[in-house]
Amino acid sequence: MRLFTVGPVMMYGDTLAESGKQLPYFRTDEFSKMMLDSERVLKGLLGAPEGSRVAFLTASGTGAMEAAVSNAFSGSDRVLIVVGGGFGRRFAEICDVHGIQHDDLVLQWDEALTPAHLDAYRGRGYAGLLINMDETSTGQLYDIGMVSRFCRDEGTLLVVDAISSFLADPLDMERDGVDIVIIGSQKALALEAGTSMLVMSPRAYGRISENVSPTYYLDVKRHVTDQERGQTPFTPSVGTLITLNGMLRTIEGQGIDAKIARTAALADYFRRGARGLGLAIPDYPLSNAVTPVLFDGNAREVFEALRYHHDITLTPSGGDMAGRMLRVGHIGNLDESDYDALFEALREVLP
Ligand SMILES: *Cc1c(COP(=O)(O)O)cnc(C)c1O
Repeated sequence: MRLFTVGPVMMYGDTLAESGKQLPYFRTDEFSKMMLDSERVLKGLLGAPEGSRVAFLTASGTGAMEAAVSNAFSGSDRVLIVVGGGFGRRFAEICDVHGIQHDDLVLQWDEALTPAHLDAYRGRGYAGLLINMDETSTGQLYDIGMVSRFCRDEGTLLVVDAISSFLADPLDMERDGVDIVIIGSQKALALEAGTSMLVMSPRAYGRISENVSPTYYLDVKRHVTDQERGQTPFTPSVGTLITLNGMLRTIEGQGIDAKIARTAALADYFRRGARGLGLAIPDYPLSNAVTPVLFDGNAREVFEALRYHHDITLTPSGGDMAGRMLRVGHIGNLDESDYDALFEALREVLP
């Protein structure tokens, strides 16, 4: 089986070996020590400012998106959301559910975010800006430096859903002025789905501490307070948290820059090969995590043929783009030989 998806993705041998074992009980010193170690490594990988806080949630990435939004903002706030696809829309829907006012900066699927887009929203006193660093539905990578300058000028809290771009594209909370980073287990971390993380700057957590949030399970204060001693308020995804610690340590050992460079090299390898096959790739800025490929209405047929005849799974698109776009992932346990197999299969499958 070869998955060129964006989560779950191909998993690494160490993760697979660990996940077959009996789980330990978790209200123990050993578990607490491991969780504190995961917090330390995660903050280091993200360049989190001194005094940042981390919450480990047993929820898929969307749970962490909802926790971030509903804990940092309230009905008296207005936020700006960059809506360049399905994941931007998800932020807007979460705000609707929690009664948080929002303006949506809506982009066409192939429209790159520019400073001019943001300039139109200056001087409006937004409490926060919500953005998916990589809008995974199109693969567009937003320029976080540009967005961060807007937020700095406007005194706006910057919330970055880095679920698909963590470990694929460079991100440093301190350098990029990011207040909350949202991460999920099943993307480049290549773990089982169902665990997500929030990393919060002191400024962001200060805001969260003062805010009354209508949440119980997703009450971030409860999670942060327990994480001070390496614990979680409720039974967590013990097994995934164990494999998470192993993965974080592996990445710390190799260096996050090396990890990102490797993903970028795979993306480049695929993009050159795909263009060689005559496939069309959009020209807006792309994340290293995933490459969108355009088709003339037959994307579903190509997806099915690869799956049934070659045991290769690409990432299908939803909605309007279902017939026109497939996405090819570059995260997880993949190497050049996997792309060579994909190119060979594409040569057979493409009309
Ligand atoms: C995968 C993903 C999510 C989270 O999706 P879940 O299915 O809830 O894990 C959120 N945002 C982006 C940008 C993603 O790629």
